[in-house]
Amino acid sequence: MKIAFHGAARTVTGSKHIIHVNPGKQILLDCGLYQGMGKETTELNSNWGFVPAEIDYVVISHAHIDHIGLLPKLVKDGYKGKIFCTPATASLAKLLLIDSARIQEDDLRYVNAKREKAGLPLFEPLYDEDDAIKVFPLFETIPYNEHYKIESGIDLMFTDCGHILGSAAVNLKIKENGKEKRITFSGDVGSYHDMILRNPQPFPQADYIIMESTYGDRLHEVSTATADRLLKFIVDTCLKKKGKLIIPAFSLGRTQDVLFMLNRLELEHRLPPLNYYVDSPLSIKITDTIKKYPDYYNDDVKQLLHRDEDVFSFAGLKYIDKVEDSIKLNDIEEPCVIISASGMAEAGRVKHHIANNVSDSRNTILFTGYCEPNSLGGRLKKQPESVKIFSKEFAVKAHVDEIATLSAHGDYEDLCQWLACQNPKDVKTLFLVHGDYDVQVNFKERLIKKGFPDVQIPSLHEVIGLRD
Ligand SMILES: [Zn+2]
Repeated sequence: MKIAFHGAARTVTGSKHIIHVNPGKQILLDCGLYQGMGKETTELNSNWGFVPAEIDYVVISHAHIDHIGLLPKLVKDGYKGKIFCTPATASLAKLLLIDSARIQEDDLRYVNAKREKAGLPLFEPLYDEDDAIKVFPLFETIPYNEHYKIESGIDLMFTDCGHILGSAAVNLKIKENGKEKRITFSGDVGSYHDMILRNPQPFPQADYIIMESTYGDRLHEVSTATADRLLKFIVDTCLKKKGKLIIPAFSLGRTQDVLFMLNRLELEHRLPPLNYYVDSPLSIKITDTIKKYPDYYNDDVKQLLHRDEDVFSFAGLKYIDKVEDSIKLNDIEEPCVIISASGMAEAGRVKHHIANNVSDSRNTILFTGYCEPNSLGGRLKKQPESVKIFSKEFAVKAHVDEIATLSAHGDYEDLCQWLACQNPKDVKTLFLVHGDYDVQVNFKERLIKKGFPDVQIPSLHEVIGLRD
């Protein structure tokens, strides 16, 4: 048996790992898209390093695009088997894959217009909406903690890992030549302090672990006062300065965190009576999907559901679906809060809202998470005097700030806590993936001190044999 690492190897996106089982079975764990890797991105996403038609099974850890975003291309390139995931992951993946196909097509529209002018051949998108739809019938959903026999000698069980709704660690028991190996793939591990989700769950003892390491060198500041900070931004911007508060937020996860906090403030009678807009069709659909899985919430939220049947809704909240209604928000004079995607302000409607509001000192642009340094969010966080949006220069007069205490990824203490259910001596090898190399080197040291005898950091397309 061996494992081939075809993505998220010494980097954080493009998650793809193949377990090769004799004779000739291949199980692909995740099929993620590379994101934000500059000029290399397209090339990385175009070259598999393996043959999709030769894969027998696909198992998906969770619905983030860097874990599912190449499924349509996998199917387009010849994969015909099943795709195993939790029910919530399948529901969210359908929304996100359609959105991803639209983004691929939109991105190329601009590039291709330029190439057409220059007389250059046009680029093809990685996939389109039709390709995305062809993935849906292949999903085979399995609830958490149920043993599932993929075929004789290959058993699968998902355990909750608290990262986003439906996210799972993949626990496999695979027989080869009569000998069984237990392999666990972490997917992405959440924090043990999530507002909405349950804590990551213990998982069965493994012989081999493939583990994410995004924040393997970092400790998050845990803040129970995040909602208070959010309230202060609303009061300072909307009540004192009579301005608009623009909150760029990812459609999946961060938008619901913000809505949950606003709802909580309302329950405590502290939420100022204003208009609160969620301006993103994808965020609306995702929030609706998340509401369908209350069993996945943590106990605090389940308790809250007894006295508040919709924990993401409160007085003054309005969802904006149509583009024309989004444009109308530009003309609103009165103070308001606008929550819109994307979180890094690189795409989506929030870019228009920033362009419209960034030059007015009454307003605040409030980021809710990490932004790539070159994204619009990353550039604004550096507090520049002006910023370029849609090829136009805008003076930055609005206050730019950040709530940095929301993260879907655990820090190194969370990662170690997730591993605490294991006897380190029984883990033959722990493979670190989904992290920057210097972070992984640092995390590896920590794990060796904790007693894990062999920790490896595979490079891209590296194939590593598993000992008996
Ligand atoms: Zn993720």
